[in-house]
Amino acid sequence: MRLFIAKDKTRQETRVLILPPGVGKLVSLGATVEIEAGLGKALAIDDAQYEQAGARISSDGADAELVLQFTGPAPEDIRLLADGAIHVSHMDPFTDRDVVKAFAAAKVSSISLKMLPRTTIAQKMDVLSSQANLAGYAAVIQAAEHQRKIFPMMMTPAGTIAPARVFVIGAGVAGLQAIATAKRLGARVDAFDVRQEAQEQILSVGARPLKVDLEETGQTKDGYAKKLTDEQLEKQRQAMAQQCAKSDVVITTARVMGRQAPLIVTNAMLDGMQPGSVVVDLAVEAGGNVEASKLGKVVDRKGVKIVGLPELSRQVPLPASEMLTSNLCNFIEHFWNKDDKRFVLNQEDEIMRGCLITHQGDIVNETIKAKLAEGA
Ligand code: NAD
Repeated sequence: MRLFIAKDKTRQETRVLILPPGVGKLVSLGATVEIEAGLGKALAIDDAQYEQAGARISSDGADAELVLQFTGPAPEDIRLLADGAIHVSHMDPFTDRDVVKAFAAAKVSSISLKMLPRTTIAQKMDVLSSQANLAGYAAVIQAAEHQRKIFPMMMTPAGTIAPARVFVIGAGVAGLQAIATAKRLGARVDAFDVRQEAQEQILSVGARPLKVDLEETGQTKDGYAKKLTDEQLEKQRQAMAQQCAKSDVVITTARVMGRQAPLIVTNAMLDGMQPGSVVVDLAVEAGGNVEASKLGKVVDRKGVKIVGLPELSRQVPLPASEMLTSNLCNFIEHFWNKDDKRFVLNQEDEIMRGCLITHQGDIVNETIKAKLAEGA
């Protein structure tokens, strides 16, 4: 089976989807692997290293049967794909509507790894989780860089420096890693999440859960948080405002799958924070948890810095690429028929049912079909 790994066209991208050891793994499965020239450039990995791992260098993957690309292609590039090709990416089918329609029109079977179901077996393929983990780490490093203080307590002959206070909002994959990283640096950490189950996890990584009585909240069957009512949001806002005012660093990671991120830190709350404090908004690409955050910018608002850089795992491109490589190879291996040496689009498998978006000219994913019909 001919496999093509395309370069990412996003200018700011620092991560590489498949590193040379990943090519070696795919070749050992029996795939013929072609990579787009310059695939590893962002990490100074030259084409020769990919050739040594068993890849051929190519300028386009016109005849490829299976194409891998990090962000989805531009709609106009989809026409270049072969009829019946399979395209695997990390596109967001909720927002990339034109791309989804173009995939269907070109009769390309498109797979979005963003839509992987949250099952134990899918964990090793889960790009969202692997990148969120690193983003949680990078958020703390960003906060430390923009801080005027230090994180740990220091007892010296010149006096004692109090530890920084960090408040993490949203204790999913990114939030828990942010808590653990801030703790390792010596900060005092408080955290909040709407999911009841998260309280125990917050405690297990050494932070204090902020108690807000929201009564019924719950989560979807896939483990995502449900949307809160207006009353619940107001209660949450009051408790958040008090906690933000006490904190040197606030890191927000709250998202709701397929929807705009909830606005949590309002400008009124920012007004209550000490000048010199830092807020890192990890949900900035999804609309932001912080009213004043700006995508791709570090904003200074009355002395409070608000970091709104997208995809923070780009700040640590090597481990981010190692994890992407591993996620992608695990995904392909799961659907690989060892006898035929082919990737099989097995729609009986719940992982495939979750992330297959278009197939044989139709949008086959029910969630995306319904979302597109809503917006039509
Ligand atoms: P996410 O990125 O969708 O959201 C981040 C966190 O924000 C979540 O914990 C969510 O509850 C919280 N949140 C949402 N709205 C909020 C609000 N208004 N206020 C405060 N917090 C809010 O979530 P995630 O990090 O991907 O993980 C969510 C859950 O799914 C976790 O329990 C995680 O362990 C689980 N998970 C399972 C798998 C798997 O089994 N394959 C993979 C990844 C995550």
